[in-house]
Amino acid sequence: MRDCRMLIGGEWREAASGATFESINPFTGKAWARVPRAAAEDVDHAVRAARVAFMSPAWRGLNATQRGKLLTKLGDLVARDADALAELETRDNGKLINEMRAQLRYMPEWFRYFGGLADKIEGRVIPIDRPGMFNYTLEEPLGVVAAITPWNSPLMLGAWKLAPALAAGNTFVWKPSEYTSVSALEFGKLIEEAGIPPGVVNIVTGYGHEIGEALVGHELVAKVAFTGGDATGAAVYQTAARGIKPVTLELGGKSANIVFADADFDNAVKGVVSGIFAATGQTCVAGSRALVQRPIYEKFLEAFVAFAKTARMGDPLDTATQVGPITTEPQYRKVLDYIGIAKQEGARCVLGGGPAKRSECGAGLFVEPTVFADVTPSMRIAQEEVFGPVLAVIPFEDEEEAIRIANGSIYGLAAGVWTKDIARCLKMAGRLEAGTIWINTYRVSSYLSPFGGYKRSGFGRESGLLAIREYLQEKSVWIDASGETPNPFVTR
Ligand code: NDP
Repeated sequence: MRDCRMLIGGEWREAASGATFESINPFTGKAWARVPRAAAEDVDHAVRAARVAFMSPAWRGLNATQRGKLLTKLGDLVARDADALAELETRDNGKLINEMRAQLRYMPEWFRYFGGLADKIEGRVIPIDRPGMFNYTLEEPLGVVAAITPWNSPLMLGAWKLAPALAAGNTFVWKPSEYTSVSALEFGKLIEEAGIPPGVVNIVTGYGHEIGEALVGHELVAKVAFTGGDATGAAVYQTAARGIKPVTLELGGKSANIVFADADFDNAVKGVVSGIFAATGQTCVAGSRALVQRPIYEKFLEAFVAFAKTARMGDPLDTATQVGPITTEPQYRKVLDYIGIAKQEGARCVLGGGPAKRSECGAGLFVEPTVFADVTPSMRIAQEEVFGPVLAVIPFEDEEEAIRIANGSIYGLAAGVWTKDIARCLKMAGRLEAGTIWINTYRVSSYLSPFGGYKRSGFGRESGLLAIREYLQEKSVWIDASGETPNPFVTR
């Protein structure tokens, strides 16, 4: 058993109450780490430490170039430890070691990019319309940022918030998911090693329902950055609203992966498979609705099922494994419930359709890669986020119908389009209501490109140049250079 501590004000601490909880390895089903179970009191310590750090000369006294260099250093340390961090993530969330390694090896780029951006944030001089007046703007940090992240990509989703927040000069309190706290705490050691002053980054662990509100609602928290489900996001938004705090919300999705008859068939099959079975479907951008044009519908289903059947399940730490376990027990039950619902609704199950009991699945909570055909757009399996390896396949006639079905969702996180027709590419990119459109590809992202949702998938953007704006506020400064203050009783 590994014993972990929280990072608060530069100190490694237990919860004030001494309470802990266990982190379970989803493949073995066994507890492998003990993590502090913070209460509101610990959250208060962390937020106050972040506020003290925000006001301290050790942080405020750094110029933007110096802040940027700290982030670059942090990126280098992540690069050094990427594989070790990836292994912790796999133990915590059961995602494939190959995927976590790829994520962690790429993650330094967020720190390098926003580190480089730190000293390129400039105010403006406004050509003001009042004689003798000088008006300019300052771009200032907000203060303490509270970040809350889910279990599916624990460090990466933290980095997407941390890098721009620190580049902008804020300080940070991070609550990772209760299921995946270990990698965040290990990452905290790199924060120290990079020389980031104590209290600038604090990491509190615990249950969202116990400490989430204390964190979001804390009077000294100036901004909230949240990734998770839309129901939790709505609760976070409401709490933040009481304190009039800006919020970014990266929420769930029910993304459509649309295959036209003119698409490169084999590429489309691979793209739709990776859209839904990568990360065992536990990804916000899962292409969980495949919309397939009628002329190729049956042929596509056949090829898709044949290819999906080849997926090797098993230990996520084994580099040969292609589909891992479901991360949590509640999520496992939810996925199986949705499979039951789809069957009741009359969807045709053409692959999987239940728990995976293969010998290579060990004690893990595995679900067979599952495909429902002949789904209609109003079925729950076509409308609600499952967050598991379950694909709903819906036939369509033409572009207009594909657009109508794809947009007929409360969500709008991403969409995929498979076609060789360039005019159609442009039309679909313009008409689909989603924050990311992938054409003849799926599930690619970069530190350089904005990521975020339309509709109930949230608002605010992470990554890319403008993401830093989510962590800044603009101040307008007026100087009367005329040397003469007018008589206030005389209207000018
Ligand atoms: P949840 O919404 O359940 O949890 C997300 C985070 O919120 C966790 O840290 C959780 O803590 C915390 N939390 C729970 N209750 C509260 C509360 N009342 N106040 C404040 N925080 C709280 O999501 P999951 O962890 O189950 O992750 C899956 C969801 O995340 C999916 O819907 C998925 O689509 C979405 N997601 C979105 C992404 C995006 O970028 N759009 C990326 C990845 C995932 P605890 O774990 O302790 O409950």
